[in-house]
Amino acid sequence: MSEQMQRITLASRPDGAPEAGNFRLETGPAPTPGDGEVLMRVHYMSLDPYMRGRMDDVKSYAAPVPIGGTMEAGTVGEVIASNSPAFKPGDFAFGMGGWATHACLRAKELRKLDPAHGPITAALGVLGMPGFTGWYGLTKLGRPKAGETLVVAAATGPVGSMAGQVAKAAGLRAVGIAGGAEKCALAVEKFGFDACIDHRAYDTASDLRKAVAAACPDGIDIYYENVGGKVFEAVLPLMNTFSRIPVCGMIAGYNLGALGGVETSGPDRMPMLWRSILVKQMSVTGFIISNHYDLYPAFLAEIGPKVASGEIAYLEDIAQGLETAPATFISMLNGGNRGKQVVKLI
Ligand code: NDP
Repeated sequence: MSEQMQRITLASRPDGAPEAGNFRLETGPAPTPGDGEVLMRVHYMSLDPYMRGRMDDVKSYAAPVPIGGTMEAGTVGEVIASNSPAFKPGDFAFGMGGWATHACLRAKELRKLDPAHGPITAALGVLGMPGFTGWYGLTKLGRPKAGETLVVAAATGPVGSMAGQVAKAAGLRAVGIAGGAEKCALAVEKFGFDACIDHRAYDTASDLRKAVAAACPDGIDIYYENVGGKVFEAVLPLMNTFSRIPVCGMIAGYNLGALGGVETSGPDRMPMLWRSILVKQMSVTGFIISNHYDLYPAFLAEIGPKVASGEIAYLEDIAQGLETAPATFISMLNGGNRGKQVVKLI
């Protein structure tokens, strides 16, 4: 009998927050690799906030997952069959296999991993797309200088914790924002933030602003934007002249999916925003990390050894079993994860 695989497909599009019923677990035969293709048994798959956007049928920087299509994900695993001279059974690799126990991909879409160089899960988090995102946004768009102050929310996640640690190493004051006292303690104790503010402890942006202002006595030079919403409103008036905002993510709005993640009701704050950008001569730059992979080797060369030595800390939250992926994903969007969320499939 041929090898069986399981995958999770998009059963329906969410209306607001995703629910378990938006996903379907399916079982069928694993594909046979064609010429130049490789079949990988997936050991771990990544769960990332961007996947929420793929569930909506709206125009964005990437096409939506079609109804009935396999949910997208970065995966790491072991090659079990290969029709390419570049891989042999037993090799480990990273590729965009999706929410599935097996991935059949072209060899050129895979990146070989050496398990002797550390846990393969690192390729999904600290040394993968999210870690690279934190490094890129902070160093290339944040343009950090010693003595400056960084603020970043989702501070214990793989993006925020990388941005914070790279900032600290560059001599900045790093102030995190995270959900709950436990995550705030993690931000300070594990990731070395100078302070961390619990955004859930403040109902309004103005109350949150007072707490951020107290933690940033010299104002804010870099606001690494991961969340938008109340946090952005709190932070904007505290930005210094010539400050920078790398716009990385807006997770607070992802469940407004049908509106493209943009809140369209409420008071018009555009004049305040534009005036702040003008008067403070701020640099506000959005980026999508997939367009910057020319710098990935530079990131790996700089950060890889620091991860190996422990100079850069990381935290993984490992759920067990493909069937847990939908609930784990929904929980992550609401802050249920502690560090990089992955799912162990084997
Ligand atoms: P995380 O592992 O940090 O998980 C998301 C976290 O967002 C949650 O744990 C929660 O943390 C926080 N969060 C959720 N809702 C809110 C809210 N309303 N207000 C404040 N915080 C909230 O995610 P990542 O590190 O993987 O990603 C961080 C951001 O970076 C996301 O916005 C993501 O989309 C973006 N990103 C962008 C990329 C790009 O190319 N531009 C590439 C990769 C990621 P807490 O409990 O601390 O609030």
